[in-house]
Amino acid sequence: MQTTELFRIALGLAEPWVVSKIEFSESQRQLELWLDFPSGSRFACPECGRDGCGVYDSSPRTWRHLNFFEHKTLLHARQPRVECPDHGVKTVEVPWARSGSGFTLLMEAFILVLVQGGMTAAQAARLIDEHDTRLWRVLQHYVEQARAEADFSKVTAVGVDETSRRRGHNYISVFMDLEEEHSRVLFVTEGKDAGTVRRFKEDLQAHGGKAEQVEEACLDMSAAFIRGLKDQFPNVHLTFDNFHLMQLLGKAVDEVRRQEQRTHPELKRTRYVWLKNEWNHTEEQARIFDELKSSHLATVRATHIKSVLQDAFSFDDVEDAEPFLKRWYFWATHSRIPQIIKAAKTIKEHWDGVLRWFTSRITNGVLEAINGLIQSAKRKARGFRSTSYLITMVYLIAAKLDFKLPPLTLATHTK
Ligand SMILES: [Zn+2]
Repeated sequence: MQTTELFRIALGLAEPWVVSKIEFSESQRQLELWLDFPSGSRFACPECGRDGCGVYDSSPRTWRHLNFFEHKTLLHARQPRVECPDHGVKTVEVPWARSGSGFTLLMEAFILVLVQGGMTAAQAARLIDEHDTRLWRVLQHYVEQARAEADFSKVTAVGVDETSRRRGHNYISVFMDLEEEHSRVLFVTEGKDAGTVRRFKEDLQAHGGKAEQVEEACLDMSAAFIRGLKDQFPNVHLTFDNFHLMQLLGKAVDEVRRQEQRTHPELKRTRYVWLKNEWNHTEEQARIFDELKSSHLATVRATHIKSVLQDAFSFDDVEDAEPFLKRWYFWATHSRIPQIIKAAKTIKEHWDGVLRWFTSRITNGVLEAINGLIQSAKRKARGFRSTSYLITMVYLIAAKLDFKLPPLTLATHTK
């Protein structure tokens, strides 16, 4: 068998495509394949599918393919245009790449596998020796295409959370489907105002969802989200879950510690001693905690108040939980720690939504899992160059999209 024929089979090329030339450069670590069709070949019209249209002209193009071992592999071919009696001159798609891309389909599949597997775009770009801007274009294309097909018709419980590209900059809002069996990110958009909720509703409806069908929503106590959800979703009940309540109390505890460490230097560099739950402490953190826990530091008292609030969520029903929460509120507001009093009052202002959790049982698991994925992607990428890259990444790792790409075990194929 000739080498060209071998490569034709390996690439899965069908009639009329053949491998016409191969050049292998050891010094440049590069393999180049020229693909071609014999003169007189005919192609179907891309518009109507009419078979046997004659080639009008062609133009040379190059695609980056999967490496051949450590050798960069390029495919060259002349891309034909046919002349259809009904549609005139039309460009014929080549079977190994989608139109407009400089990568073959298999190369694009490989890029997606790398990034979904946990690499940053920058790492994947380094691995295949391309600029990451080219990779982002590929990733954005597949996200867009797969999102167009996504079905939101069964969505009844949603969660919304915000995060930023960099600390304190360029916020995005992430809307999630909280049903355990189809938990995923539904929609991501810039901003964290009431307008983001309106855009979410439009997107939900564009994907077959219904606003009246959404009965539960889980969120932090942001006024913009509360107003937006009430305005856009007529049947929604709001839940302020313990994940967000713990965030609120965690922030208060941290503020107490930062203020107190000015007069109590032993509190310096102990941030996570107070933010983490005891059972998650490292040995060192546990040692510091044991040392300080019986002191009269406001940080210690604030941490205690926070952990007792967490206990409220182990009650089975609201009849037991509410009296407990009322006692907690009284205790917290008499703590003489301003940051804790403020947090307790915020909870009181959102009382119905805090209690709603005991009915809706909206799962923190989904919310926390998705949040964890996003935070870890941000850490790995050390922030994102643009908000649109962050949005693309969130969809890639947490939207459970179907990218309809050829499996990497298959070669390029004509159909
Ligand atoms: Zn046609």
